[in-house]
Amino acid sequence: MKSNLQLSRIDDSILEALPSPCWLLEESLLERNLKILRDIADRSDTKILLALKGYAMWHSFDLVGEYLDGCCASGLHEALLGAQELKKEVHTYSPAYREEDLDAIARTSDHMLFNSPSQLSRFAERVTRVNPSLSIGLRVNPEYSEAPKDIYNPCAPYSRLGTLQKDLDVETVRKIDGLHFHALCEQDSSALAGVLEAFEEKFGRYLPSLKWVNFGGGHHITRVDYDREGLVNLLRAFKKRYENLEVYLEPGEAVGWQTGSLIATVLDIVHNGMDIAILDTSAEAHMPDTIIMPYRADVRHAAKAGKKSHTYRLAGNTCLAGDIMGDYSFDRALKVGDRIIFEDQMHYTMVKASTFNGIPLPSIAVLRKNGEIEVLRRFGYEDFKSRLG
Ligand SMILES: *Cc1c(COP(=O)(O)O)cnc(C)c1O
Repeated sequence: MKSNLQLSRIDDSILEALPSPCWLLEESLLERNLKILRDIADRSDTKILLALKGYAMWHSFDLVGEYLDGCCASGLHEALLGAQELKKEVHTYSPAYREEDLDAIARTSDHMLFNSPSQLSRFAERVTRVNPSLSIGLRVNPEYSEAPKDIYNPCAPYSRLGTLQKDLDVETVRKIDGLHFHALCEQDSSALAGVLEAFEEKFGRYLPSLKWVNFGGGHHITRVDYDREGLVNLLRAFKKRYENLEVYLEPGEAVGWQTGSLIATVLDIVHNGMDIAILDTSAEAHMPDTIIMPYRADVRHAAKAGKKSHTYRLAGNTCLAGDIMGDYSFDRALKVGDRIIFEDQMHYTMVKASTFNGIPLPSIAVLRKNGEIEVLRRFGYEDFKSRLG
């Protein structure tokens, strides 16, 4: 994961006053991303939605709603959250809907997207009866992706995500207003160009009769070296070819990208062939992508192992041997009680965190644009217990 960190440097003493562990969203950094996304949408005459899968910190949704056109949800719970807190367009797509959720999703959504012709033919009529203004779409598989790993590649062999060209017929297309694809992961506009070419080659003949297309997420638009002009040109050229189509993008990560940190504390330092700092947070429970993806989070004031004079393995406070964030070096020796600040921890963290091993969830705080810090939520024993029965 490329970082090119560009974070605000709030005073370390402010962080000392926060509970630990704690996620801290910085609204001004979020707004910076939102302005970039709004500018892309305006210049390319497209609509941009927040993918709740990646970032769902709803206390910031008033701000998100000032800039973005709505959200995309992956099922009933995200659709409800978007409708209640963001209060703009809600586009819901699920790999497979549960029948008991259909009516509530239909009432809550503006667009409802199906993954397969079979669910579409079973449910489309019913949901449009519930909500006659609902726009129906189908996710397709362009069978082309430059995604870095199969776990993030919806076009990999045997993928369940999206309908193949060979399984799509005119009869099915007659029932829909739009097509959707999602085939990128943290990628640049050049990767979108490749997918778009495959998409048009396979599905282009259906486009003149439709109302919209949705280019999914994975566009790393707010990363400092992302080719935004390339994206605007690509979108404009597409819209010129299909003047009938509204175009949607639905990034998640690009919204939450580099907008805040996870603050933790050193609980103990042990030695076994190297110095190991045990923290009050967990890679496994709070930053799972550091293990799954995997990637190495940046730590404020730290460098790669061996670069500075004091090197430590930073590790989590669960009993999983592999609960390790990585090896980092510091100018000073760490001591018990020191704060460790993991950068860029707003996306795919809170939405994935668990109470594995009884570890408390990090508190949630926000640094408002006016400079005030609010601690929004602390988690305790009841949050752990209530998830288990
Ligand atoms: C995950 C996902 C997104 C968001 O992807 P990001 O990589 O966070 O931008 C958008 N649409 C769909 C269908 C997804 O599955």
